[in-house]
Amino acid sequence: MRVLVVSDIHANITAFDAVLEDAGVFDAVWCLGDLVGYGPDPNECVERMREFPEMLCIGGNHDKAAIGDLPLDAFNGEARRALEWTHRQLTPESIQFLHDLPEQSVREPYTFTHGSPRRPLWEYLLDAPKAQSNFASFNTMYCLVGHSHVAIAFLLNERNRCVTYLPSHSSSFHLGYQRMILNPGSVGQPRDQDPRAAYSLIDTDSLGWEWRRVEYDVGIVQSRMRLADLPSRLILRLEEGW
Ligand code: ZN
Repeated sequence: MRVLVVSDIHANITAFDAVLEDAGVFDAVWCLGDLVGYGPDPNECVERMREFPEMLCIGGNHDKAAIGDLPLDAFNGEARRALEWTHRQLTPESIQFLHDLPEQSVREPYTFTHGSPRRPLWEYLLDAPKAQSNFASFNTMYCLVGHSHVAIAFLLNERNRCVTYLPSHSSSFHLGYQRMILNPGSVGQPRDQDPRAAYSLIDTDSLGWEWRRVEYDVGIVQSRMRLADLPSRLILRLEEGW
């Protein structure tokens, strides 16, 4: 089975559509959370996700805060303003969909979560020590995460030491007998100085994992954000990738 793995779409339908076109044919979609928040198209992103017959989607901190299931005071001023705006846009159907998203899910040999297996909604996995201490918090061979908006992998080597792997554009990887934590990067708001949308593809039979990047029309998204009067820093960061 060929699976599209996405995370942190953040209400950016232009980036998500570019990913869908670039990915080609796939059998299922796995989404690691934060469908909404920051961007101008929350309902469109929820609707696009709901259309997939084979879809697994985890709830992220922005998904839960946008519908009032998490307090907004845990977010900085700009994120909070965008979440308040998002809340006003969401249809009852979108709210229900986001409300129903689980914090974590398991489908052997994968665990799916937004931030980390230890703290699904909040923890950022960006370095080996933090990742190392998370391997005890899931039982499957692999754990797929998002949240940091950075394409990255952590693997446990033969000596049980956690090693960081930073993929370059179009890196392929074979998921072998080592336990791993993998992040496909962010579709709608990458934070690794590369503004292109990030995503992954996995072949669940051969266990081939691929990180990919695709350009999209950032300017069009920025103009929709200006029309919605979303914070200017959130508009700027899309073209710079931070
Ligand atoms: Zn996010």
